[in-house]
Amino acid sequence: KSFKQLGVIDSLVEACEILGYKAPTPIQVEAIPVALQGRDVIGLAETGSGKTAAFALPILQKLMENPSSFFSLILSPTRELAYQIAQAFEALGSTINVRTCCLVGGMDMVPQSIALGKKPHIIVATPGRLLDHLENTKGFSLRALKYLVMDEADRMLDQDFGPLLDKILRILPAKRNTFLFSATLSSKVESLQRASLSNPEKVSV
Ligand code: AMP
Repeated sequence: KSFKQLGVIDSLVEACEILGYKAPTPIQVEAIPVALQGRDVIGLAETGSGKTAAFALPILQKLMENPSSFFSLILSPTRELAYQIAQAFEALGSTINVRTCCLVGGMDMVPQSIALGKKPHIIVATPGRLLDHLENTKGFSLRALKYLVMDEADRMLDQDFGPLLDKILRILPAKRNTFLFSATLSSKVESLQRASLSNPEKVSV
């Protein structure tokens, strides 16, 4: 199958070509059409499977159909993964002018607040720093959020981010789409899934 056959629009297919993606990976084949239909998705996939583009492409496509700032939030267990995810959004969104912003711990908050002031479309964050900004950065709210991604959910829960995730979920609009990606499906991941996804489709590779 090709990206086009999965329903991906031409400008994003072109971005994939620029990146040298010749064909979608198995997790992309499974997840992209389901996500484009507007369903919530649980993706069981490891790093290296192409999981980032599996959620980034549908989100970018929906963003293009209805552009708005603070459109999507991607939660990551680590700073390094957050930067990789933001980089992937920028590369895949290079043909469509997408603005992304990284909110991670251990870094000065001020440049991050300034970046939020530019009203990015995509926010990639670690849970603690996201809450810091929601509490302290004027003008920043996630009331208009359309897409939430919890990436490497098992690792976030292993790092005891569970209570922070619960707090974030209480703040986000209920009417949204949610994608949860995890390498494993532990009982903790299952209870997070029940608390945050509605009628999800499970895809795995
Ligand atoms: P990920 O599992 O999202 O961390 O992706 C692993 C690596 O695969 C990254 O370097 C991506 O740029 C690359 N990648 C993602 N999708 C494809 C694809 N369809 N074809 C070739 N490489 C890909």
